[in-house]
Amino acid sequence: MQFRGMSVKYWGLRLIAAAIAPVALAAIILFALTTTGVRAQVVDWSGPKTPTAAPAEIAGTYNRGCIGGSVALPLDGPGYQVMRVSRNRYYGHPELVQFIETIAAELAAVGHPGLLIGDLGQPRGGPMNSGHRSHQIGLDVDIWFLLKPAGGLNAAAREALPAPSLVIPGGDSVTDDWSEAQTQALRTAALAPEVDRIFVNAAIKRHLCDTETGDRSWLSRIRPWWGHDDHFHIRVACPADQPLCESQAPLPPGEGCDASLDWWFSAEAAAEAAKPAKVPPRALSLDDMPPSCRSIYYGE
Ligand SMILES: [Zn+2]
Repeated sequence: MQFRGMSVKYWGLRLIAAAIAPVALAAIILFALTTTGVRAQVVDWSGPKTPTAAPAEIAGTYNRGCIGGSVALPLDGPGYQVMRVSRNRYYGHPELVQFIETIAAELAAVGHPGLLIGDLGQPRGGPMNSGHRSHQIGLDVDIWFLLKPAGGLNAAAREALPAPSLVIPGGDSVTDDWSEAQTQALRTAALAPEVDRIFVNAAIKRHLCDTETGDRSWLSRIRPWWGHDDHFHIRVACPADQPLCESQAPLPPGEGCDASLDWWFSAEAAAEAAKPAKVPPRALSLDDMPPSCRSIYYGE
């Protein structure tokens, strides 16, 4: 009797447990998705291979944002060639693309050998899997110091040719390969009204400070930074019609050929450079980015 009673009770509990288990499991999964999975959704911004439809729409800042309606820089044009085409990082805001085409043509018209263009941004901007913290809102471009050779580069060379440094090892000065053509490219870019700032190695900034005569106003836009010894990085200001584009703090006044530049050659800077690489920053999730980046990523 007792045996039978326990058995019935036991099987009854088993049945209830069996009925509840899937519901509980579903609840746990739903909880996990809403609290962690969806909130920390890190997507691969190199995934979308095409821009969303025009008009251009920038959301966020240079190192945390995205762009809808970007345009591709044509891979070849008067005075330039795009390098590393397979990376698919030749997209930007129409103003950036037009700016690159304009300065390349201007330089070509005065006999400059030509520019080799590095990364702009991905078709929809956003963080990259390698190489840059910024370049996220279609307003940054890297341009090589290596000049375009006469006759241009073939497809294989555009992928494989290394970018040589024009700063001597140790970082004190530019190499003998530095020429007026590099200075001319920096000067032309820095004088363009849409440019916010240009990053170069401190040795390059010092070279310009020491050698430029005449109009030196543009030196204020040339900013010393780590690396940037084989390319310079041009950052265009937020276009006027982009209310969701977040500008950086304005540059300090003056040429910047002062103690702020000397710091880069100090023992303190050397110690900073020698520090072990910092822990890489946590990957940006869609929730870390401006809300419109979700719809731009998914092309909605
Ligand atoms: Zn860059």
